[in-house]
Amino acid sequence: MKAAILAVGTELLGTDRLDTNSLKLTAALERHGVELVRKAVVGDDEGEIAGEVGRLVEAFPLVLICGGLGPTADDVTRPAVARALGREIRIDEGLVAWLEERFRSFGMRMAAVNRRQAEVIDGAEVIPNPLGSAPGMRIDAGGATLFLFPGVPSELLGMVASHLEPWLAARSGGRRRESGVLKVAALAESTVEERIAPAYGEFGREAITVLSSPGEIRLQFWATGSDGERRDRLAAIATRLRGLVGPAVFTDDPEATLEQVVGDLLRERGATLATAESCTGGLVAERLTRVAGSSDYFLGGAVTYSNRLKSQLLGVSDELLREHGAVSEAVARAMARGARVAFGSDYAVAITGVAGPGGGGAEKPVGTVHLAVAGPAAAGGGGEAIDHREVHLPGDRQGVRRRSAQLALEMLRRRLLAVVAAAPAPAPGGAAR
Ligand code: ATP
Ligand code: MG
Repeated sequence: MKAAILAVGTELLGTDRLDTNSLKLTAALERHGVELVRKAVVGDDEGEIAGEVGRLVEAFPLVLICGGLGPTADDVTRPAVARALGREIRIDEGLVAWLEERFRSFGMRMAAVNRRQAEVIDGAEVIPNPLGSAPGMRIDAGGATLFLFPGVPSELLGMVASHLEPWLAARSGGRRRESGVLKVAALAESTVEERIAPAYGEFGREAITVLSSPGEIRLQFWATGSDGERRDRLAAIATRLRGLVGPAVFTDDPEATLEQVVGDLLRERGATLATAESCTGGLVAERLTRVAGSSDYFLGGAVTYSNRLKSQLLGVSDELLREHGAVSEAVARAMARGARVAFGSDYAVAITGVAGPGGGGAEKPVGTVHLAVAGPAAAGGGGEAIDHREVHLPGDRQGVRRRSAQLALEMLRRRLLAVVAAAPAPAPGGAAR
């Protein structure tokens, strides 16, 4: 089944209100395997609404409409839909009584205008609204079914759960649509696109979408069918995509952030972390400390913007700074090593770069960033190993800073993955089983 959504409300055409109801409606459609094909927003204009409803009902078997069911003169969804369907409207005296009782229960007398909310389009089934005074409607018209919901988000949500979802469930025969997610750090969108291309052929182009934001890409994929069919197909797509993309996939949890994943890895290994940041001004520390419980592994960090503090706090030598400049591999490595020593952590990340817009040169253009991760050498034995990367990042100042922080966390994640998690503590009581 294919569906369309129409959001009604002049405020939704302005600059400070966004139509979020359609996202809730879309989520309900997705859960039941219904494909949303079109979404429209119109103002509180009877002619506009009637015209749009007429077109949608011609084209789609399911049309969901929200907003414009209030009692005031600008709420014209009811007459507009009636006009589009060529139907009459009548007052439902049962609804009038319900509305009057609702007002009485608040110690108020119902205003005459509220009688409009008892208007029902011929042939419609009324959908009660336990949270407000605007009842909804379901109307079968020709080959199409229309749902009318109020615009107030909490009221709409309640009625979606009580009426739309059961209606969809009864028609889906247990077949639902569900999605899985893989998140990828610090790879270009074009690179990801190139790598996953074979999966489009295998699972269908429309089964997988790539959503890109600076430094992070979200692969979302869908499966429709019974519970078992969906589970198997989502697992198959995820396995294939992981194989194609490689270790840049950092989670399959839609809500998990890179800093959470890094934090979990540190905690599992019983390791601590410190930061030394120059051009990112503490962004990495900020992200790490967003995670509740990060005090388990994050000790703290230094924002060493000046050369003097790079020397004083991190022990970066003046010769090094003079010889290589603050934005250099040598200084990034020295900052990471220095932070590890100064803060007594197992690992340290360091960032130094040119975020722009000024300060760039021919040798070190804006976007040049050196990143380093210091930690114990893999072989153990007390040695130290420092990973380094030099990158040339696109974007404006904030973009360069955000991407740098993301890359630093990703470098740390890769480093930690190479280290085996600490063995779980023995069970209390001691006896091995
Ligand atoms: P109702 O049918 O419940 O009376 P309405 O459109 O007549 O809704 P309004 O007063 O226009 O009532 O809107 C009620 C509230 O709901 C407003 O804050 C409005 O911005 C919000 N709202 C309406 N439509 C949407 C939407 N599509 N997404 C998010 N919020 C919405
Ligand atoms: Mg409105």
